[in-house]
Amino acid sequence: MAPALSLNLRSLSLQPPARRSEPAAEEEHQPSEPAAEEEHQPVAAATPSRPPPPLPDFNRPAWGAASTADLARSWGVLAACTVGGRGGRYGLAAHADTLLAKATSLFGPRLVDAGVRATFARVFCAGESLEEAVAREKVLQAAGVRGILNYAAEAATSSSPAGDSSPHLAAGCSASPSDDAADSRTRTFLAAVGATDTRPLSPAEAAAGGGIGVTAIKATALGCPDMLERASAALLAGHGGRERDRWAGLPPATHGGLPALAHALEAGGLSRDDLAAWDGFVGRVASIADAAAAHAALTGGGGMRLILDAEQSWVQPAVDALAVALMAAHNAPGSPFAVLQTYQHNLAATPARLAADAARAGREGWVLGAKPVRGAYLLAERARAAAAGLPDPTCPTAATTHAAYDAAVVERLVPAAAAGAAHLLVATHNTASVEAAVGAMAAAGLAPSTPAIAFGQLCGMRDFLTFTLGAAGYRAYKILPYGPLRETLLYLTRRAQENADVLGNVGVDLALLRAELAGRVFGGGRKGA
Ligand SMILES: Cc1cc2nc3c(=O)[nH]c(=O)nc-3n(C[C@H](O)[C@H](O)[C@H](O)COP(=O)(O)OP(=O)(O)OC[C@H]3O[C@@H](n4cnc5c(N)ncnc54)[C@H](O)[C@@H]3O)c2cc1C
Repeated sequence: MAPALSLNLRSLSLQPPARRSEPAAEEEHQPSEPAAEEEHQPVAAATPSRPPPPLPDFNRPAWGAASTADLARSWGVLAACTVGGRGGRYGLAAHADTLLAKATSLFGPRLVDAGVRATFARVFCAGESLEEAVAREKVLQAAGVRGILNYAAEAATSSSPAGDSSPHLAAGCSASPSDDAADSRTRTFLAAVGATDTRPLSPAEAAAGGGIGVTAIKATALGCPDMLERASAALLAGHGGRERDRWAGLPPATHGGLPALAHALEAGGLSRDDLAAWDGFVGRVASIADAAAAHAALTGGGGMRLILDAEQSWVQPAVDALAVALMAAHNAPGSPFAVLQTYQHNLAATPARLAADAARAGREGWVLGAKPVRGAYLLAERARAAAAGLPDPTCPTAATTHAAYDAAVVERLVPAAAAGAAHLLVATHNTASVEAAVGAMAAAGLAPSTPAIAFGQLCGMRDFLTFTLGAAGYRAYKILPYGPLRETLLYLTRRAQENADVLGNVGVDLALLRAELAGRVFGGGRKGA
């Protein structure tokens, strides 16, 4: 049987990626049904100069070291996420926080915690301590997959809309640079950096320069979210608050140095207290970047990447400006350490911003670090814009987002990575987008283990993509959230809400898991505890 999802390399051309047909209604978008994806031909790239490497077949996935019990648990949890309606918006995933609160009041926290620990947390999280997360990564590594140790902490600003249920970790802003909670989280992130493994996983990876450790941080865990919102407004103030021209009013030096950025914030009217809080925030992020750079130098291997996650658009301008300053400072060509910024393609302004950052990197001689995502805050972005009477910053349709995402990866980032001008982590659960990226790599003549390109999925989501990529020699990563159960529960419910659509459409995952389980149970395949 011909693999339904495999790419036809002969069909690769220099055309831009074909647009997905517009779904009748956005709720009806079925991202990963094999039949639908067969029709999606998004890849466009140059004709290969040498025979392309074999492409992974996601219809015949590898499952790594997953035991039969693990697969059965994943099947059960994913099946539970589909309960409650098409697209998941009215189902368990979308209302995980309310359901959890109700269950806790009915059965008590101990029973609920035990139930969640054995099911959802086991599938979507990597444990309650750094040690447990590292142990989980070792299991992944045996299957050619690395973990991104990710302490589960995040916060929202006071002005987040009601539907945005992020915990407000930094309640009240400390004007002092020594904010105890943020300092404590900095130490947690530093411990994760120290535990990051950069040893090669395979001979191919060793030959390609070694393993690359990745760590990810969230700005709102390290600084006051309200200050970040005010700092973002101050940066935008210079050019009439136009989000899509966010860099237009800033002097070029703003992107080349932290002092110039602080000066721009002061000129934009940021208060003394906020400037002090900004200094503390920058100090924490910079200390993590320095530690990751030192870890890369000490441990050898292929190096380290530090990813700045992207959050709501009202805190992002300040975080983006810091990210660009850090990239300019750290991302020298040939450096084993690089900072990556996250680009959310469900925001209409993102392609222009990505182009501006790439152009700036080229002019200033540093390597762009990019983690393209579709973006997690669609509903919150729309709700806030509607409530404030502001223009909706998001793409009008899912199809526009998909096209922007694939174009960024296929047309801009993979070619830039091939030319040594970008480090890229393709962060998506969308099979067609992963296929587009591996197709573009093949067309550019890049080996799967090329150090400049990696792939990432969240723990427990689209495992068939991650394990198949890892088995095929691509640099495949799983985000491994960890932390005390009550804190990871907040993370879990939030991810469930953000990904309600994706979790409600896990038909492919369920079908592939069923087939593997049936093979193991009835076909004499591998059985685990
Ligand atoms: C490794 C990794 C790291 C991540 N880091 C971040 C991060 O730092 N910041 C962040 O914001 N998110 C992050 N995410 C989450 C990501 O942004 C998405 O929320 C999530 O991955 C779903 O997108 P997708 O590409 O995986 O899946 P898809 O299967 O393509 O699903 C995307 C869903 O969004 C819907 N959608 C998209 N755009 C629109 C639109 N304009 N109108 C209506 N519906 C739309 C689609 O219909 C679809 O249901 C990360 C994800 C991964 C895998």
